[in-house]
Amino acid sequence: MYDVSKIREDFPILSRTVYGKPLIYLDNAATTQKPRQVVESISDEYYSVNANVHRGVHFLSQQATELHEGSRETVRRFINARSVSEVVFTRGTTESINLVASSFAGGLMKPGDEVIVSVMEHHSNIVPWQLQAERFGIVLKVIPMDEKGELLLDEYEKLFSERTRLVSVTHVSNVLGTVNPVKRMIGMAHAKGVPVLIDGAQSIPHIPVDVQELDADFYVFSGHKIYGPTGIGVLYGKEKWLDRLPPYQGGGEMIQKVTFEKTTFNELPFKFEAGTPDYIGSTALAKALDYVSAIGMEQIAEYEHGLTRYAMSRMKEIKGMRIFGEAEQKSGVISFLVGNIHHFDMGTLLDRLGIAVRTGHHCAEPLMHRLGIEGTVRASFALYNTKEEIDTLVSGIERVSRMFC
Ligand code: PMP
Repeated sequence: MYDVSKIREDFPILSRTVYGKPLIYLDNAATTQKPRQVVESISDEYYSVNANVHRGVHFLSQQATELHEGSRETVRRFINARSVSEVVFTRGTTESINLVASSFAGGLMKPGDEVIVSVMEHHSNIVPWQLQAERFGIVLKVIPMDEKGELLLDEYEKLFSERTRLVSVTHVSNVLGTVNPVKRMIGMAHAKGVPVLIDGAQSIPHIPVDVQELDADFYVFSGHKIYGPTGIGVLYGKEKWLDRLPPYQGGGEMIQKVTFEKTTFNELPFKFEAGTPDYIGSTALAKALDYVSAIGMEQIAEYEHGLTRYAMSRMKEIKGMRIFGEAEQKSGVISFLVGNIHHFDMGTLLDRLGIAVRTGHHCAEPLMHRLGIEGTVRASFALYNTKEEIDTLVSGIERVSRMFC
């Protein structure tokens, strides 16, 4: 039984008020709220274990190292990676993509080589490639989509050439909610010998992810979107690729031997983890993964699917409602506009009713151009949201709409 009221008790922030109204937090695609278990893990570790990890001979350092490396194992299990060597801790999705873009382009690509992305990418899966395009003369190709917000796989197939070196696409769109058929897309790329990076920022909190089942070459995500802390995230990479990539940053931890003449690098995953890692964050991230695992990712997916279906049907009842993203496979992200009301006005007035939504281009300007709009209002759901909150959102939107008539 999915007990949402019990789950809500773990998130103290959900019982606060804003402007005297109960908070209705529907900005989960930007970041999620944290359960007690995660917040307490941070203070507990600072209070009772804190010491720098790896190589320390003293008790605390060893204990901190055990926690940090234990968290890597928790991540491995959560995404079903083959080995902990394939789990690199980063600052988040953005840093993970920058790492791959920089090392892949710098180490394995030549001018004129191509990377395929999609029209619905977040800026963090566009700009890192453009930076490399400028440095190394690589070329970006873009998968188009249809009116429902589904990628056109026939067009995708046509984008491959002799020069395609990598595909980098999002699992779930942070604007449209589209769940892309990444397993199929990976299969199509592999048939041409091309590896694939999946941006899992919006999928990891909502659907079960098995990197081996998907056969993803790289899978990246952020801790803060899955009820963990900010400042920590993950780059999963198949060992055969991580082995071939040159290091991203230099410094402590990532070396084996340093002389002024030559430096050799540490084994995986440490080769990509220069400097003191966020060992407090990794423990808290593991707590977040334990938290969702205890509820069950399948159960969460099913619950959120129900919420999304309910919200879609209720929101469509609203006069003048335009919803962007009607894919068959859709997660709990609903982007919309009502009549001629500016997204910013809608967001600001909903906020006064205690409803937190996001407005703007959602860091996906090329997608906004494709849709022919400047921005949307976006409501995005998490495991603690309820149908009652959706009812309040719907009556809030109706109330704001009436003000503009
Ligand atoms: N990709 C997608 C699809 C996202 O939604 C986001 C966050 N909005 C990112 C990447 C970037 O994540 P972060 O800012 O945590 O690095």
